[in-house]
Parts: sequence; structure tokens; C-alpha cells
Amino acid sequence: MSKVIVISGTPGTGKTTIASILAKKIKGVCIDLSELVLKEKLYKKVDKKRETVIADLNKLVPRLMEIIKSVNSPIIVEGHYAEIVPSKFVDAAIILRTHPKELEKRLKKKNFKESKIRENVQAEILGVCSYNALNTYEKEKIYEIDTTSKTPHETVELILKIIEGKGEKYKIGKIDWLAVLEKEGLLSDFFK
Ligand code: ADP
Ligand code: MG
Repeated sequence: MSKVIVISGTPGTGKTTIASILAKKIKGVCIDLSELVLKEKLYKKVDKKRETVIADLNKLVPRLMEIIKSVNSPIIVEGHYAEIVPSKFVDAAIILRTHPKELEKRLKKKNFKESKIRENVQAEILGVCSYNALNTYEKEKIYEIDTTSKTPHETVELILKIIEGKGEKYKIGKIDWLAVLEKEGLLSDFFK
């Protein structure tokens, strides 16, 4: 059994793009939680209004454990609720962060509808994925990378550094979009 690298973050921050490049580099296996839930029908119900499915954690977590225990190469678990992987299996949890303006652009490009963009951008501003990670993992294991002006390859290089134990600069607690937006006079663009 190998230890897991968790990659979490709001939709559009680049988890799937970055995890697949990382998996190739470290010859690892990549598990996309949203894909696994859909493929194996590990959900409780379909939330039509929010155009999403509600994962059934009673099915998903044991299935994930089964995969983790059976794989001998490095494992990357990515998803916006990837903190469901129990702490004892996890080496590092990396939260990808993106400036709300840039995230809005990326989600528009992905054809998310307005209400979904708003919900996700607000979650990014408030750091919901970081909050969830802090409720699951020791803070020493949690890192945040601002992907806004980095290419996916640059972000992957930073993750490799973190895995090697040289990621001090990226320890959680340094990214605060609320403060950034207030300073830029943009805070009211995203809330009312
Ligand atoms: P997630 O899995 O977190 O929802 P994806 O990887 O599916 O994110 O989507 C991110 C999108 O944003 C991709 O289309 C990617 O090409 C684009 N993108 C643009 N700039 C970046 C960047 N600097 N880092 C990561 N993704 C970026
Ligand atoms: Mg994805």
C-alpha cells in the first residue's frame, strides 16, 4: 500500500489537469473522485437543480480504501471533497487556489451556468476546501498553491518540491482572497 497525495480545490482551480501531469511524472495512479462516483454509481441522489450528484460516502470511502490498499504505486486522489481520504493514508494534502476573477473566467470557459459560477467563486473566496482540509488533516500536512499565474507544469513542479519536503513556503494559511479583493476594491463584485 502506498501513501496518498490529496489534491483538493474549488472546481476550475485545475485539479484534474494538474493531477494527470503529476501522475505521469511520478508514475502514479490518479483517482478523480467525481469520475469514480459517476462511473460506479456511488451516489445517493442526483441534485437536478444544482446539476450535481450527492456522493454516498458510505459507499465511496470503502471503495476508495479498497483501491488504495490494492495499489503499490503512488496514488493521487483529486476532487473538491478529497478530504474524505482518512488522514492516516495521506502524506500531503494540496489545495489549489485561484484568484476569484481568474476562476470566474475558467468556469465560464467550462460552460458552468451563472448560479454555479457564483456558488463556486464564493466558496473559493471563503476558502471552503481549505476549511474542510483543516477539519480532517494535521495542518503540517496541508499546503496551498495559488495557480493564478502559474502554468499547470509550474504547479506540478511545486507539488514535487512539497513531496520532497521542501514546501515550507506553501504551508496553509497564506492565501486570503477576502483581504486581496477588499484591497483591489472587488469584494462587492462577488457578493450582495
Ligand atoms: P478542476 O478539476 O479543478 O475542476 P480542471 O483541470 O478540470 O479543474 O480545469 C481547469 C481549467 O482551467 C482547464 O481547462 C485548464 O486548462 C484551465 N487553466 C487555465 N490556466 C490554468 C492554470 N494556471 N492552472 C490550471 N488550470 C488552468
Ligand atoms: Mg476535475
